[in-house]
Amino acid sequence: MKIKKNDVVVAISGKNASADKAGTLKTGKILQVFPEKGRAIVEGFNLMKRHTKKSQDNPKGGIVEKEMAMGVSKLMLFCPECKKGVRTGISRADGGRVRKCKQCGHAFDA
Ligand SMILES: [Zn+2]
Repeated sequence: MKIKKNDVVVAISGKNASADKAGTLKTGKILQVFPEKGRAIVEGFNLMKRHTKKSQDNPKGGIVEKEMAMGVSKLMLFCPECKKGVRTGISRADGGRVRKCKQCGHAFDA
């Protein structure tokens, strides 16, 4: 898996691949990954509206939005230097496996 929990990513296709009027890409944090399925849950991405019944937590009931898992092939790591989704390479120079931005060399696991 190229991504892991707490990574910040952008979507490269689909309805989650959006930018605001200033051109800032919508980013989201990885909440959970499912390596065997190749899917991940990303904060604020792939929201599904769900109708809920009244409960103690939600006394009024109604509609809540919840993130659904999406394919990691649609996600790229967001590089804070490049300000966009980037490809990464693995560097072993520092003794461990460090993912680095292929464009600017930013280390994601430092
Ligand atoms: Zn970069």
